[in-house]
Amino acid sequence: MVETPQNQTQGAPLSISEPSSQAVAVLGGRPNGQGIRILDVSEEYVQFWGGDRDHWLGASPKIVHQEAANEQLLTQLHHALSGGKLGLGCSLSGLDHAEEALLSKAPRPLIEWRVTAMSMPGYADNVLVLVQRDITQQVEKEAELKRLATTDMLTGLMNRARFDYLLKHELGRLNRYVRPFSLIMLDIDYFKAINDSQGHDVGDQVLRALAALLEDNLRSADYCARWGGEEFIILAPETSLEQAARLAEKIRQCIGSAAFPGAERVTVSLGVAEAAANDTPKSMMKRVDNALYQAKESGRDRVAC
Ligand code: GH3
Ligand code: MG
Ligand code: MG
Repeated sequence: MVETPQNQTQGAPLSISEPSSQAVAVLGGRPNGQGIRILDVSEEYVQFWGGDRDHWLGASPKIVHQEAANEQLLTQLHHALSGGKLGLGCSLSGLDHAEEALLSKAPRPLIEWRVTAMSMPGYADNVLVLVQRDITQQVEKEAELKRLATTDMLTGLMNRARFDYLLKHELGRLNRYVRPFSLIMLDIDYFKAINDSQGHDVGDQVLRALAALLEDNLRSADYCARWGGEEFIILAPETSLEQAARLAEKIRQCIGSAAFPGAERVTVSLGVAEAAANDTPKSMMKRVDNALYQAKESGRDRVAC
C-alpha cells in the first residue's frame, strides 16, 4: 500500500533544496503495508539509479547496490518505522560500495547514505528522507591529509608522531597478549661534519639514501621512522633482544659498506632494547636511548644493547 503525499500532485517534480551532488528520496511505509515505498524523488536520485521518475514513484527504494543488503535494510527500516523506533530526527546511515572500497585501491564511487525520520509539509504521516552523496573525493582527500600528517617529508618514512602512536599501540598489545618486540635507535656518526664539509644538500641526500637502505633491509612487518635530525628508529615486532641486535648489526654493516652520493663512508651507531612487561613509551625510549649513548661513548660505528 503506497502512501500518497497530500496537497501534492504525483507528477510535479520535488524541489528539495539539497546541493546537486546529493540524491534525495522521500520514503514512507504503512505499518501493515508492503514495506517501504518511494513517495517522491529528486532528479539526482533518478539520474543516479537510472530509469525515470514515474518508474520510481511507488516503487521499493534502492539504498545500496547489493540486492540482499538492500532488502535487509528495507526490512530493518520497515520494522523500525512500524515499531515506532525511528522517532523524529532519528537516522540510520552507512556506506555503499564500502566493501569494494576496502578491497580495491580505487574505490569508485563511495556513496554515503543516510535515512532520517522527519515530518515534511505536504505529508500527513512522518516520512523517511533518504540522502545519498558521493564521498569518494572527500575520502581520498582525508587519506592524503592523513598521509601528509604521518610522513616525514624529507625521507618519506613515517614521522615521529606516527611512531609514537604505534609504539603505544604495540606496548598495549604486549601487555594484553605477551607479544615480544624490540626497538633499534640509529644515529649517524659525525653527521655535522658531513653537512659542514659537503653542504646541507648532500646531508639531505645522505638522509634520503639511508632511509631507503633501511627500508630495503627491514621486513614489511617492521616499522621504521625518522625520529628527528639524523636519528632513525625501528620497531621490530615478534623480535627478541638477541634477534634485534643481529638485525642492528646487519644494518650497521650494510650502511658502512654502502656508497652515499657526495659523501665519504657513512657510519652509524645503534642502540637496541626489548620491550618489557611494564614498559611505558617513555621507559622504553629511555632504555634504547641509553643503549645508543653507550654505542657512541664506546667509539661509534657499533651496536649496543
Ligand atoms: P654524533 O656522532 O655524536 O652523532 O655526531 P653528529 O655530528 O652526528 O651529531 P650532532 O648532534 O652534533 O649533529 C647532528 C647534525 O645533524 C646537526 C644538524 O645540522 C644535522 N641535521 C639535522 N637534521 C638535518 C636535516 O634534515 N638535513 C641535514 N642536512 N642535516 C640535518
Ligand atoms: Mg643525533
Ligand atoms: Mg649523529
